[in-house]
Amino acid sequence: MPSNPLSRFARSFTVQLSAWYAALFTLSAVVLFGLFYLLLGATIDSKDRELIQARLNECATVYNYGGLPALQDLVRRSTVNTGTKSFFVRIASQRGTAFILAAPEEWVHLDTSALQPDGNPARLVWLNIPKDDESNFTLATEQLPDGSLLQVGRSTANRETLLAPFRRTFIAVMVPTILFGVIAGAFVAQRALKPVEQVVATARTIIDTGNLSARVPAGVSQTEFEELAHQFNRVLDKNQTLIRGMREALDNVAHDLRTPLTRLRGSAEIALQATEDTTAQGALADCVEEADRVLTMLTALMSITEAEAGVMHLSLELISLTDVLAKAIELYDMVAEEKQIKITTSFSSSCEAFVDPVRMRQVFANLLDNALKYTPVGGTVQVSCATEISHVVIRFKDSGTGIPLAEQPRIWERLYRGDKSRSQRGLGLGLSLVKAIVEAHHGQVTVKSEPGEGSLFTVSIPISGPR
Ligand code: ADP
Repeated sequence: MPSNPLSRFARSFTVQLSAWYAALFTLSAVVLFGLFYLLLGATIDSKDRELIQARLNECATVYNYGGLPALQDLVRRSTVNTGTKSFFVRIASQRGTAFILAAPEEWVHLDTSALQPDGNPARLVWLNIPKDDESNFTLATEQLPDGSLLQVGRSTANRETLLAPFRRTFIAVMVPTILFGVIAGAFVAQRALKPVEQVVATARTIIDTGNLSARVPAGVSQTEFEELAHQFNRVLDKNQTLIRGMREALDNVAHDLRTPLTRLRGSAEIALQATEDTTAQGALADCVEEADRVLTMLTALMSITEAEAGVMHLSLELISLTDVLAKAIELYDMVAEEKQIKITTSFSSSCEAFVDPVRMRQVFANLLDNALKYTPVGGTVQVSCATEISHVVIRFKDSGTGIPLAEQPRIWERLYRGDKSRSQRGLGLGLSLVKAIVEAHHGQVTVKSEPGEGSLFTVSIPISGPR
């Protein structure tokens, strides 16, 4: 499924976990701040109301004892004492006459019709009248024994004075809080998911390189993910043992089959020379041919095993690799001619190195054989050889079918054959043998290929031989 790096990033579980953590962290901070803000607001409100009620009670007591003059006197005295007119005091008689005894500046333009309580004035009625700014007027109304309505009020501006810096702090703190949530989330998610990442990286290494001994590094903690990594390692151990067992069985079978098969081939050859019967001759020739095929396969399998186990015997000589290449190309001249494939060479020097000539010929012959086999009629094959610092580098470039990216890591496996290559002759052992021999020389072989464009196989061999 095609996916761009951005959508892969968004789908990454680490990113999703970090985002969730950051969102929850931010939400918790907002809820906490919100609750604290509401609580603070409610406390200031109730304090305001307590003050208003205390003033209302005081005014009512004075009015009940001394009437309007005593109330006027009280209001005047408290204004003189405190120097402020923080309370609004109004009294309205039953006949409809009303006196405003004290009015802070901002109350002057207040519409008095808004001061009529809609509830039952027999008990205390609270009114909240919005002002132009964000504060309110809070007003308490109580009916006195003579039927008049006593009203005491106060502006809630001081509530705003207290809450506004709190809101400003909240906005200023929120940005670093969200940032901290994102960073902490990324850190926590990265740490928690590290074992999973290591499992994925190990699986990828095994698939890409075929190195079955790769393992997830052991962690010290005992989280579920660490346990997953541990169990994954156990599965890998089991797989490796099974694969090793299968290889050993295959090697043993190859070893045990070689002698009887060689004898069978010899007998078929003797019988072929002795018989005059054409039908028998055809059958025996087939026998010899098939026996040769199986013997080649068994020999290749055993060579690969020897090289991989590090016991391949190499007769090292300082030789010119371009000579070996030239001989291999000569061997394939006929095949190239038949398929009208042009082989071009580019040798910068004689490219001398300490190698086993027989084994090197096998490497070059296999790579050349593949290049010709997988290149259609009329194509080209370029062979180059150059000395690069401490190595001789040989390249085989063809204009053939190419190898799909998914198949490229697998072509080096024993008996692996590409999906589209099955119509061609072959055993699926050529490249495993090439790799085993090159690595036995402490060299490297790599492929670069594009389906439909062709392939480039590069062999790099140390000049000084395997040391
Ligand atoms: P085979 O006997 O199938 O050629 P090899 O081990 O030599 O076995 O190669 C393994 C597979 O690698 C082949 O089946 C083929 O799919 C692919 N391959 C090797 N060389 C080439 C090439 N030059 N061009 C395209 N595909 C190649």
